[in-house]
Amino acid sequence: MFTKILIANRGEIACRVIKTAQKMGIKTVAIYSDADREALHVKMADEAIHIGPPPANQSYIVIDKVMDAVRQSGAQAVHPGYGFLSENARFAQALAAEGVAFVGPPVGAIEKMGDKITSKKIAQDAGVSTVPGYMGEIEDAEEAVKISNEVGYPVMIKASAGGGGKGMRVAWNDDEAREGFQSSKNEAASSFGDDRIFIEKFITQPRHIEIQVLCDSHGNGIYLGERECSIQRRNQKVVEEAPSPFLDEDTRRAMGEQAVMLAQAVDYASAGTVEFIVDGERNFYFLEMNTRLQVEHPVTELITGVDLVEQMLRVANGEKLSIRQEDVKLNGWAIENRLYAEDPYRGFLPSIGRLTRYRPPVEIAEETHVVRNDTGVFEGGEISMYYDPMIAKLCTWAPTRAQAIEHMRHALDGFEMEGIGHNLPFLSAVMDHPVFISGEMTTAFIEEQFPNGFEGVELPDAALRRIAASAAAMHRVAEIRRTRVSGRMDNHERRVGTEWVVSLQGQGMAVTIDADRDGSNVTFEDGTVMRVASDWTPGDQLAVLMVGGEMLMLKVGKISGGFRIRSRGADLKVHVRTSRQAELAALMPEKLPPDTSKFLLCPMPGLIVKVDVEAGDEVQEGQALCTVEAMKMENILRAEKKGVVAKVNASAGDSLAVDDVILEFE
Ligand code: ADP
Ligand code: ADP
Ligand code: MG
Repeated sequence: MFTKILIANRGEIACRVIKTAQKMGIKTVAIYSDADREALHVKMADEAIHIGPPPANQSYIVIDKVMDAVRQSGAQAVHPGYGFLSENARFAQALAAEGVAFVGPPVGAIEKMGDKITSKKIAQDAGVSTVPGYMGEIEDAEEAVKISNEVGYPVMIKASAGGGGKGMRVAWNDDEAREGFQSSKNEAASSFGDDRIFIEKFITQPRHIEIQVLCDSHGNGIYLGERECSIQRRNQKVVEEAPSPFLDEDTRRAMGEQAVMLAQAVDYASAGTVEFIVDGERNFYFLEMNTRLQVEHPVTELITGVDLVEQMLRVANGEKLSIRQEDVKLNGWAIENRLYAEDPYRGFLPSIGRLTRYRPPVEIAEETHVVRNDTGVFEGGEISMYYDPMIAKLCTWAPTRAQAIEHMRHALDGFEMEGIGHNLPFLSAVMDHPVFISGEMTTAFIEEQFPNGFEGVELPDAALRRIAASAAAMHRVAEIRRTRVSGRMDNHERRVGTEWVVSLQGQGMAVTIDADRDGSNVTFEDGTVMRVASDWTPGDQLAVLMVGGEMLMLKVGKISGGFRIRSRGADLKVHVRTSRQAELAALMPEKLPPDTSKFLLCPMPGLIVKVDVEAGDEVQEGQALCTVEAMKMENILRAEKKGVVAKVNASAGDSLAVDDVILEFE
């Protein structure tokens, strides 16, 4: 086995690879940019080599710089992680030229599968069913329209070099085909330096199900079951699980065998993933093959017990697979939630900043359940604009799907993260969503279930009561503390009242608290009593309570006259008042947020690529107003309703901050 490897990546995946290398007794070398001097992967590795300024195209993906680091370190092999250089044939060649092993497939397989047009042709020749469409390159917008009509709307316009959901647009008519062609092409040029575009049928309401394959360089290949990745936004995965709740044994075998067949058709040797979309009748169509370790590989590891990074290292070292197909047993159920620095309340747009608080739940590896958190960040660290905004991959495993979901709910409840916008409330909402629970989701899940975007969750009455009882008990503790601090009396507990009105989510609940040494009994107006016990003290941002015999975890912040409580996708202002204060509060006018409907605000920090309208223009609902580029994605901002443009404040080339006014309406 190698004695020293270099990891040509950063963040959680670099940390992930280092863990397995350490387990195998292999020394590790990290590379880092200026932005990553303090990063976790640098701290974890045995050595670290600086390779340049923050932008990836001046550091992590500059082959010459990475090669210099490889030479300097004397590493015998390089693991590329995912993204960056992982699917770059020139990089694999450069390593081969110096006798360094690339921990990935042979160059030929990367080249053939790295290109979506080529790989579709190979799949078709290998007898794997592919999405119907046009497999040539498309020259211009008019040709895109012509071909879209031949394929039949709706169509998916895709970059042949695409990845990470970039360079991809759905079109339902000629106008959208024209516009989609242009934005896919631009995005592909800026993200991949390759603007070749093709068009295929857009399959409506499919599932994304993919097969993990593992092949060695001696002609052996196996599949390690599937991953269900249908919960996506912007054609990118957020929640994955293994196995898929949709597959039966026959479909699994058919997909697995075709995936291995395809891998072997390109002499694949390493871990790889064959992605399919699957329709309601369990017809499956090849989408693409990712010739690398996949982001969501942990769910496969959790149900198969196979360490994929270890297998990749062994294969790269020329070993034969020690696992046969009949050894692969799928055991239990695993779920992964990707925590992203992106704001679910703002259309999942990326958010950047400092993680002022980062306390993931404790990792657990027991017979009955597993909690695994793959991460590359730490409290006080920065989520920068330079890289992928993923913060962590939180996984749970349990014998059944329902148990794995329940463990995930708790793990999310206990996950503390502050300082940046993040998608944790959204993930909690998904874990509680009846469609997700039923297992009957498609890639349209987010659009269909959150048609106006994510607006937070309205909690059911039972949950509100539990929170109200908790808030009353916490308020009592805070009041005791407060009167003690002001030092007015020594028998302060008696001065703190027992009758309170808790208002939350538009409801007022009158409660009476009867406290003893170990907790409080909270009595509601209808006479029901809820026992609350907790060691929460004022200032704690995570409250762990026993409420009515069950555990409840709340994220708690202080607001005037009460708490901000976040729980299961809800973000509540909870006021605890005396009945007199509650009466007065009811008379207070509600403060309304400022009216911003007359402005088009920049939804994220970004660069204005183009402005499509001028002062005086009348615009229709849905009309494109301008294009903002952020994180290499082009986002078209559209008119929410019919109106007349009064003033345009930005022009192409301007860099804007969040909420900067791009234009004003009359
Ligand atoms: P997965 O199926 O593993 O989620 P994705 O296609 O979403 O795969 O890509 C995984 C990661 O790699 C994402 O963070 C994405 O931004 C990044 N990525 C994918 N393709 C490229 C590429 N060609 N260049 C740079 N980064 C990429
Ligand atoms: P990437 O390289 O960015 O991962 P993929 O080709 O794998 O691109 O597609 C990403 C996602 O887009 C898929 O998981 C699926 O949800 C959706 N998608 C891609 N092609 C189609 C299609 N023809 N019809 C419907 N959905 C599609
Ligand atoms: Mg894909």
